Amino acid sequence: MRPSAWRTHLPNFDSDGLVEKEQLNTSNGLRWLGYDHLPMRNCSEAVRCRGGLCPRCIRQLRANLLDFLEAERLHLLSWHFVTIRVAGWKVEPGDDRPFGPLSDHPYIYNLKTKFRRMNLPGLVIFGSIETVYNTVANVPAGKPFHLHLMISGASEVEIETAVKATIPPSDDIVPLDIISVPPTDADFFELASYAFKQSLLKRSKIQEADRGAMQPLNAAERRELIGNLGVHGWQQRLILLGIRCDNGPFRLIANLSTPPPRANSPSLRKSALRRSRRVPGRPRS
Ligand SMILES: [Zn+2]
Repeated sequence: MRPSAWRTHLPNFDSDGLVEKEQLNTSNGLRWLGYDHLPMRNCSEAVRCRGGLCPRCIRQLRANLLDFLEAERLHLLSWHFVTIRVAGWKVEPGDDRPFGPLSDHPYIYNLKTKFRRMNLPGLVIFGSIETVYNTVANVPAGKPFHLHLMISGASEVEIETAVKATIPPSDDIVPLDIISVPPTDADFFELASYAFKQSLLKRSKIQEADRGAMQPLNAAERRELIGNLGVHGWQQRLILLGIRCDNGPFRLIANLSTPPPRANSPSLRKSALRRSRRVPGRPRS
């Protein structure tokens, strides 16, 4: 693939119009809440504010991540897309208090430690902690914090073992959702971009069981989510293992070439077939 071929698979990736509108609305929210909003208001490609709530900076970081994945040809590995819903992580509607630590949350630290101790050759993980402002029939329905991770180099059973040992499951119907990423570039980049998204999101559902549609937050909803997420730096929702992010550029620290793939693990095998098929189940927030 040419560099930045991922963009052909993500035609709606954080458009200029969306980013400009979100930058204005979020900096207005910060001003209302008494924060210094000017660095984000004036953030540009030339002078970055590096704020975790800044749509322009988060777009840049997402693009850096996707550029890196493509340049390192990591899309050719086998991956699982993992959603983890955690006990006690649902913030009630109207509650605007800070959630607390984000990617340095003790559960996430424990999960990464567990994975390291499992000593899986070629293990690579990227993803994020995020939340979403849910409404059902236009009534606020809570803001579940959760994790999305892309994992290569671990089987479904190994992933399940690590998660169950370290993270108490929520009472959702599917607290742990593990999907095999189909071996197409389109599926890989779509799910990779889903694993680290913009910070301030709203999902509007007609009924609880609906998939729902993403919508812009109104001003009050936006301030409530800013309160929950807290003002934080631009890397503070990122979860990485085997990959480093040095204030913008990503690089691989796992050695994916030296250890031979284990015979019983398909995880490191490159996808010989580039079949096009649908993802069996779409991730849900
Ligand atoms: Zn910024």
